[in-house]
Amino acid sequence: MVSRIAIRTSVIILSLCAALAVIVAGLVFIPGSPLPDEWNPRKPLVATAAHNFLTPSKLRFAISDYQSCQAALTDLGVKFKTLPDKNVSEQCHILDQVQISRLSQAQISPLKTTCGTALRLAMWEYHAVQPVAKASLGQSVARVSQIGSYNCRAIRSVNGPTDRMSEHATANAVDIAGFQLADGKRISLLKNWNGTDGQQSFMRQIRDGGCNYFRITLSPEYNALHADHFHFDQGRWSSCN
Ligand SMILES: [Zn+2]
Repeated sequence: MVSRIAIRTSVIILSLCAALAVIVAGLVFIPGSPLPDEWNPRKPLVATAAHNFLTPSKLRFAISDYQSCQAALTDLGVKFKTLPDKNVSEQCHILDQVQISRLSQAQISPLKTTCGTALRLAMWEYHAVQPVAKASLGQSVARVSQIGSYNCRAIRSVNGPTDRMSEHATANAVDIAGFQLADGKRISLLKNWNGTDGQQSFMRQIRDGGCNYFRITLSPEYNALHADHFHFDQGRWSSCN
């Protein structure tokens, strides 16, 4: 008796799974699918769409092609110009190079980096920095203070230099030190990480938001070397702290 009920339950579950698979396949593959592009795995990245579980793979795909990466920057309203590849050595280079001077809304001092790093940074600013600033600080961010992307050097640790090259050596990383708000007030990680409640909330929420767009996000909570900046990169490891 029990086994008959178990078999009947299994058949029902399998039937429901099969029906669901057919519905999902239909939504994904039919021409003119009603699925929004950001929820359709066959459609390219929609840089302005909220993060979902498909965003990381769509972002990787967009960044794998210089033209589609530039198109995504344009969709976000990023001000940029293309530059030739910078080939210093096998370990040190900037491929698919761009120079950005404004993110979606915030100004940024001219930053030479890969198109991929620029796109991840711009999506972070669009989806995390600006909305969180309005919610926590009551105003938008007018300027993001960057302290560099490309730097041909080894990884630094609290015990000194290591023998592994930094993601900065290929501009696959970027460091952010602070912000200027719409009213002109400046806030920095060094001075305001433990500032007012609003500043603390802003800093921690945008650190967490960075983890949606970069594999590694390091803040003052990581170690003393990051007391004054966020480090974002897209290296092999994954860390968010
Ligand atoms: Zn860094």
